[in-house]
Order: sequence, then structure tokens, then C-alpha cells
Amino acid sequence: MTIALTTDQRELAAAVAGFTARHAAIATTRAALDQLGAGRLQPSWQALVEQRLHAIHLPESAGGDGAGLTELAVVLEQAAFGLFPGPLLPTVLAGQLIAEHASSPLAGRLLPDLAAGVTAASAVTAAGLRADPDGDGWRVSGQTPPVLGAASARILVLGAETGDGETVWFTLDRDPVLDGGRHDKLEIVAAESVDLTRDVALVRLDDVPVSPEQVLAVEEDRVRDLAAALFAAEAAGVARWCQQTGLAYATVREQFGVPIGSFQAIKHKCARLFARTELITAAAWDAAVAHGQDGGQFALSAAAAAVIAAPAAVDLGLETVTLLGGIGYTWEHDVHLYWRRAISLAALLGPRGGWQRRLAGLSAAIERRHELRLDDESEQLRPWAARTLAEAAPLPTASQRRFLAERGLAAPHYPRPHGIGASPAAQVVIAQEFARAGLAQPSTTVGDWALPTILAHGTDEQREAFVGPTLRGEIHWCQLFSEPEAGSDLASLRTRAVKAAGGWLLDGQKVWTSQARQADWAICLARTDPEAPKHKGISYFLVDMRSPGVEVRPLREANGSYLFNEVFLTDVLVPDDRLVGRPGDGWRLARTTLGNERVTIAGGLGRRQEMPADYLPVPGADCPGEVPAEVLAECGALTADALAFAALRQRLLLRQIAGAEPSAEASVLKVVDAWNTTRLRRAVLGWRGADTAAFGGPAGDAAQRYLSLPPTLLGGGTLEIQLNVIAERVLGLPR
Ligand SMILES: Cc1cc2nc3c(=O)[nH]c(=O)nc-3n(C[C@H](O)[C@H](O)[C@H](O)COP(=O)(O)OP(=O)(O)OC[C@H]3O[C@@H](n4cnc5c(N)ncnc54)[C@H](O)[C@@H]3O)c2cc1C
Repeated sequence: MTIALTTDQRELAAAVAGFTARHAAIATTRAALDQLGAGRLQPSWQALVEQRLHAIHLPESAGGDGAGLTELAVVLEQAAFGLFPGPLLPTVLAGQLIAEHASSPLAGRLLPDLAAGVTAASAVTAAGLRADPDGDGWRVSGQTPPVLGAASARILVLGAETGDGETVWFTLDRDPVLDGGRHDKLEIVAAESVDLTRDVALVRLDDVPVSPEQVLAVEEDRVRDLAAALFAAEAAGVARWCQQTGLAYATVREQFGVPIGSFQAIKHKCARLFARTELITAAAWDAAVAHGQDGGQFALSAAAAAVIAAPAAVDLGLETVTLLGGIGYTWEHDVHLYWRRAISLAALLGPRGGWQRRLAGLSAAIERRHELRLDDESEQLRPWAARTLAEAAPLPTASQRRFLAERGLAAPHYPRPHGIGASPAAQVVIAQEFARAGLAQPSTTVGDWALPTILAHGTDEQREAFVGPTLRGEIHWCQLFSEPEAGSDLASLRTRAVKAAGGWLLDGQKVWTSQARQADWAICLARTDPEAPKHKGISYFLVDMRSPGVEVRPLREANGSYLFNEVFLTDVLVPDDRLVGRPGDGWRLARTTLGNERVTIAGGLGRRQEMPADYLPVPGADCPGEVPAEVLAECGALTADALAFAALRQRLLLRQIAGAEPSAEASVLKVVDAWNTTRLRRAVLGWRGADTAAFGGPAGDAAQRYLSLPPTLLGGGTLEIQLNVIAERVLGLPR
């Protein structure tokens, strides 16, 4: 998925992709690398200006299109995907700063020029320049670090340190006519750019006067946040190109007589690159969307984008080079041009550790709020849900459960009478109302994936017997799928079901069965036709756990709990009416069950998201002085992971609300969740030192949480199996 989500955005993306392919073929860009490095504009710039893509974000009053940052991000992402050369990114960054923060006269003078195609550039840090007061203005001297596009820019936005810990940001016009004598004191020194497709230059100022009219009303953090958001959009385009290029090569390059994409190491690598590209894109999207919200929200998302997007695109560049093998390391292959662009983007945003620490601080103070627009759905539904939940709130737990089930709110997405047939958007409204009412949405755990299978494939009698009572909390389920010899390869299960009078006799052993002791009923897979191919001879049964012949033996987990069990089935009679679907349908039905185990739309929506900062040691109480800088930095990196994951989830939800089917892409969520949860729990162990050696101390349950990771990594399909699903079903690599 690219940044573009809405129909308009997708059309814009397609238009930019087409434009880039027509006007900036990579062969043409390659032929002009020397000129681009020196900051000389190419015909592609003029074509871009004629298409007005450089002015999409500028106010209509100044000749722009008045679009938001998300549309601008769509343009930047697609342009970067096509490696569009020249000063697009620096020009739009400077333009956005001027549009947002210049006084009316200054904006009135500069913005029409920018809309007409004048180039610009903005520094991302005030470091290197010093501003001394001079009347009601400043005099500025010093030298900037490399500034993207400064050699090709006519208008510069620069920052200087004022000596009291503050910065002043101002514009300079390099047009000698407009310059008012400053031109002699300004020197632009083009440097050798890592990104060969555009220039970087040092800007030297020697006692240059800056009048109050040139000053922007902006602080350095805001400049950096805007840069982070726009750079992230480009990083998303770069990452997507690398990911797609690597994948395409994996399908055609043959070694050992087969495409390299049939080797599992390569499949998993492609799947990981895809998941990371989705994360980069989600982070970039989130920053662009947050620009329309209040300042704190934007700062948070922009910092997360800075931590994730460009640095991850750098890694992706290298991973793609190695995926391509020797050819990927040749000058002739385009991958290094993209890799270089990622390196340049990450470098220009400044040290990652600084962003990480800033993000850790921000996330301790601000919560990221995603705003979903659900106008049509919510008009009648919301007040009804709010009233019903207000009635439910004071009831005791068991009656509350019944009350919600009877009104279709225990599983609103189920068809009536069990649910209310809620669309994805309606589910979101209901989830929000649950959160507002301070109530948790009911979960039936294994029932959450058993019931959809019964609803889809069961008989009316089975639906009647099981769905309502489960939703009312009267029936608890367990899942008798895994066996000692059938874990990931579930279809090799051996439990047998033999036809007998009035039903089937089940014999075999199941293992790792969660909550088997508490369960009333089980969904169970057993082999009914030993002669059939292994996926064809399996059937799907509903087993009464109180039946004679069912023996449950608890197993103790490594974390000390007793969640899962061994279950022995000896001549257990399962009546005919407890077979779901037809004999031999079991594997198809199990896929419905496992699909639902992986996806729960709106699950957790409305609840406050757990954040790494929640686990930081408290200065004074948990650690002697301040929280160490390296802990803050690690916390910031983990926060960026968490925010990108939340954005990814939000994007899948928005797509479902817009009518897309839930797909195997949900496996990406599961993989990313497993990565993030593992990293976070491991990090927290390190933050709390000796306290984590004892349970119940000031470090709370840090060690217990870490010891309890395996269910996240194994349940519902191990990480490797999820990567297989992504590689084969999403990316189409050979099975
Ligand atoms: C806490 C917990 C609760 C569970 N609850 C239930 C339950 O209620 N009901 C139920 O039926 N099951 C349950 N399970 C079982 C779970 O589904 C299995 O553990 C899981 O499917 C893996 O099977 P396995 O344990 O046999 O490991 P194996 O499949 O033997 O895997 C061992 C290792 O080999 C790797 N591997 C296997 N095949 C491949 C492959 N094709 N490609 C790459 N790597 C591969 C795996 O990723 C793993 O790292 C539970 C498991 C846990 C940990």
C-alpha cells in the first residue's frame, strides 16, 4: 500500500507516477548526474512546474492548489519512487515553511514566485550560523552543514543560533536585484552529494543583515518536524522501489535450477522487506495526516517518522543490494541511486539518537489520537450504542454480558440476530462508544474464531445451539487442533474419527490446548479419510468436553502458569449433528478459523495504546538521577515502532471501511506486533536492572512479561509461518 488511501489520493499517485516515468526516465537522469550535482536545473523541472506538482500545497491565493500535507506526501512518495531528480523536496519544504510561518507581506512576495517555479531550499538545523542582534533585526555569520538543494535554490530558508539557546529563522533571496547588497556576503559552496540526483551545498554568510521582515515566526522543532514528515514521504517511495525491485528479481533469477524466490531464506527476506516498507509508509502517512491536527500530535508523528522512515529505507537499500547479489553492487544497476537517496535523507535530518530522545519525551506527555471520519454510519448508530451501553454499564458482569449479547453488541459484526451485521465503520463507532462508556468489548477468546466458522459453515441448529449461548457467556471453547506430530504442519494430524452408529468415534492426542480444563466445548480437527490426500481427509467437529473418553492433563508453561494442556481422546462419541460442514471439509473450515484468529477488526480500538514510555524508570524512585540518555534513546526507537504499528493498523482499518476485503496483509500486522512486543519486553528488562531479578518488586512484572512472550510468537502460527503467508499469499512467491 502506498501513502495514498482515498480515491483522489490514488488518482493523484497514478498521475505523478505516469508523469515521472514520462519526464524523468532514469537513463535521462543518469546522463545528467554531473549537472544535477552542481545544482543545474533539468528540463524535468520545467515539466514538473507546468504540471503544477511543485505547488500542490501552496495556498490558492498565491497560485497553488491549496492541498494538504497528505497530498504533498503522495506526490513526494511517487516522485521518489521514480527517482525524480532535482530540487522538488527542498523547494516544497521551504515553500511549506514560508506558507505557514511568513508574515503576510513576505509570503505575498515569495509564494507567487514559488508557485511560478522558483526553486528554494531550507536548512533543517540552525547549527553553524550565529545571529547577533542589530537594531530590530539581526546580523548573521557562519557556515551551515550541507543543505539539500541550496546550490540550485534561489530562495533560502535558514536558521541561526541567537546565543540564548534560541534560534531565528529567516529567508534570503539570492536574486541580486532583490538582494539589497547581501549578495556579496553570501557564498554557496556546492559539495559532492551522496545523492547523485540532486545537489547539497554549504551556505556561508559573512555578517549578512536580516531585517524583521525576513524573519519567520517558527521554532526550530517545527522546521525539523516538517522536514521529517516530507523526508519520510520520499523515504517511503525509495523503500517501495527497493522492495518491489528485490521481489521482482527473486521471481526471475534462478540458482540451483529454481527461482531464488523459492528458497525460504529469500522468501522470508522479501516478506520482512515488505513488512518494513509497509511500516515506513504508515509512519510517513501518519506524519502527513497529523499535520492537520494540533501541534503536539504532529510533533509526535513527525518524530516517529524521522526515527523510522529514512533510517529504515537506508537498511532496505542495503538489503536489496544483497538480495540482488553482485549485479546489485554494480554502478549500472539503479539500486545504488535509491540507496544513496535514503542515506542522504537520513543524514540530512540529523543524528537519529536526538530524534529518539525527543520522541521518548513527547510520548510521555502526549497520546497519539487517530481521528476517524465516519459521518454516515454514526448518525443513528452512535446515539443508540451510547444509550444501550449506558444501560449496560451498571449491570453485574454476567447480566451485562447477556444484555449486550441480546442487543447484538457482544459481536456487532455477526449477522442478526446474533449481532447487528455491523460494517467495519459501524464496528469502529461501536468500539469508540464502548471506550467512551468505560466498558471492555466482550471477548469469547477461542469462541471469537470458532463462532465465525459455525456461522459460515454450520447448520441452523448448530448456530442456534452455540452462537447465542457463547455470546451470553454460557459456553466456553477450546481448540483441539495441534498434536504432538502436527504443529505448524497442522494437516499432518493423526487423530482419527471413524463412523459409528449416530455419530463418529474420535481417538487421538491433542496438545498445547489452551484453557481445555475450563472449556465446555471444543472445535476439533480429526482425520475421517486416511486414504485421501492429507488436506482432504480432515473433518471439523464440535466436541463436548464433558463427553466420556475426554481426558485433560494440564501442562505447566515456562512462565509458571497453567494455560495449555494435553487432551487425550479415547473412543469419544461425537454425534452426527456435531460435524460442521461435510466430511472432508475440515481443512477449508480450519482456514476460516485460523483467518479469524489472525484478524479482529477494531480489536482494541478506543483503548489507550500501551507505550514504551509507560515502562521508563521514574527518576528518584526507580533510578538515582535522570533517566540515562541511552535508555531514553532506546525508548524513543521503540515508541516509533509502536506508533508506526498503530498507523499501519489504522490504515488497514480505513481500507476495510472503504470496502476492501480483510486479506493476508493482516499477517504483516501479526509479524510487526511480534517484533515490537519482543523488542519492547526485552528492552524493559535492561532498563530496570537488578529489580527485574525478583518478581513483585519495583520493576513489577517485567520479567514475567518477558517470560510470557512465546504465546505471541507461536500462537496462531509461528513467526516463520506468518512470513511464509506474506511471501506466498501477499507477494506471490512460489509455494
Ligand atoms: C501459549 C500457546 C497456546 C497454544 N494454544 C493452542 C490451542 O489452544 N490449540 C491448538 O490447537 N494449538 C495451540 N497452540 C499450539 C500452536 O499453534 C503451535 O505451538 C504452533 O502452531 C507451532 O507448532 P509446534 O509447537 O509444533 O512447533 P513446530 O511446528 O514444530 O515448529 C518448531 C519451529 O520450526 C519452525 N517451522 C515449522 N515449520 C516451518 C516451515 N514450514 N517454515 C519455517 N519454519 C518452520 C517454527 O516456526 C518453529 O520455530 C498453542 C501454543 C502456545 C505456545
